[in-house]
Amino acid sequence: METKTIGQFIGGRHCRVVGATDFTTLNPANGQVLANVQQASIEQIDDAVGQAASAQRDWAALPPATRMETLLAAASLIERHNDELAHLETADTGKPIHDTTRVDIAGGVAVMRYFAGLAAALEGRQSASGSTAFTYTRREPLGVVAGIGAWNYPVQIAMWKLAPALAAGNAMVFKPSEVTPLSTHRLAELLVEAGVPAGLFNVVQGNHAVGRALIEHPGIAKVSFTGSVPTGMRVMEAAAGTLKKTTMELGGKSPLIVMPDADLERASDIATMANFFSSGQVCTSGTRVFVHRSIQAPFEAALMARVKAIALGDPASPETRFGPLVSQAHRDKVMHYIQCGIDEGARLLSGGSAPQDPRYAAGSYLLPTVFTDCADTMRIVREEIFGPVMSILGFDDEHEVLRRANDSDLGLASGVVTRDLATAHRIAHGLQAGICWINTWGQVPAHMPVAGQKCSGLGQENGIEALYEHTQVKSVFVELGAYTSVFPPG
Ligand code: NAD
Repeated sequence: METKTIGQFIGGRHCRVVGATDFTTLNPANGQVLANVQQASIEQIDDAVGQAASAQRDWAALPPATRMETLLAAASLIERHNDELAHLETADTGKPIHDTTRVDIAGGVAVMRYFAGLAAALEGRQSASGSTAFTYTRREPLGVVAGIGAWNYPVQIAMWKLAPALAAGNAMVFKPSEVTPLSTHRLAELLVEAGVPAGLFNVVQGNHAVGRALIEHPGIAKVSFTGSVPTGMRVMEAAAGTLKKTTMELGGKSPLIVMPDADLERASDIATMANFFSSGQVCTSGTRVFVHRSIQAPFEAALMARVKAIALGDPASPETRFGPLVSQAHRDKVMHYIQCGIDEGARLLSGGSAPQDPRYAAGSYLLPTVFTDCADTMRIVREEIFGPVMSILGFDDEHEVLRRANDSDLGLASGVVTRDLATAHRIAHGLQAGICWINTWGQVPAHMPVAGQKCSGLGQENGIEALYEHTQVKSVFVELGAYTSVFPPG
């Protein structure tokens, strides 16, 4: 069968150059080519921004209720294509079909519905300025927003970005990761089919050069970025040249604290989910697991009972809960960190290598890996690995664990497991992170703002805060009385 070729999606149409291929996208479960991809040219990026600007003017002029109805119709059509999008996502990312059919598209649809409902929630403020004057504010759209996504939740990231942007009256040009280009391309087609005006959501494909050209384009008003911390820094630098607003959703090295009174079964369930869902390729993974020394041995035993039972396999099979990593290159990077852990003296409790089963030899599989007896100074404890590698660290008291958990440049997520309500909230308030989960892990409902502290990010995604971040405030001063000039006629 001939391999399909995808190009750009601009102004509601496919833009392909006959015969050109710049890169391919592979299925990480077996290494097979899924599609040829054309990288957007400078002219195509310019065209996408121009078409977006033109569509945005009409879109912003619509009543908010019309924007709401259009976005709700789009959310429903995407929901009806849940399984199709999930299969694309599983093939491109290696994430189990069990998860993509239940989480990825559903999570994006929920956020689209939430922001659709908020389209009319943009209000200004009026205040008196003396007896004859007053001021009011307007929350106006920004114009064209550039969205740049990571490979771990391709279609969900695109929906999380487009929903607040479009609800507030903006248009978007989106660049998915070059590692996972397929689902966003299909998403753009579905949006147009649902009635979203052509040009309002455009997709350009390609690597960092496309991302940079998009950020530097003078027609872009804001950059909404999801990716790693080093890339986020480069994106901010590029955006600074034209003083663009930015939202930065970056990496993490999140602590999970297991207190001595914790329910061990629950704590080990949470630790397993926090480290091995999506093969550990989740920005909020709780990879630094601090366990009170009094319960460390039984906790590790309970954890191992779960880790050894993880259903690794072909992500297309409904029984699989743990698929390959996104690419061979990424697996090499994670393997390098595992070697660092061994070299620095951490004790390997499980995993640490690729599975021996020859059925998985062509895929980028790696066993779920747990290190214990880790030290705060080790690279596996300090740096984001973005793979299935858990580090267990013992602690003796609350004050000590808070200090150690906060001793990081990153501050994306955190969690605590305890039966004591006061302890739970004290720790949640003391942790330096944008999210704290108490006795659970991973939920991100649409109304909950997601924002990294420290180097993990700037600005918010989700929650009404994200709607405001896609607006700019204009103040209007109205004088009903006389105007007094210091320069009267002579
Ligand atoms: P990455 O930083 O390598 O790439 C992200 C995107 O940036 C890609 O689309 C890439 O093409 C683009 N890019 C790369 N260099 C660029 C440049 N100089 N200018 C403009 N664009 C550029 O990240 P990744 O490997 O795709 O994703 C993994 C990272 O994403 C992890 O660090 C993870 O924690 C983070 N992440 C964060 C969140 C969050 O919400 N905080 C969510 C998902 C992933």
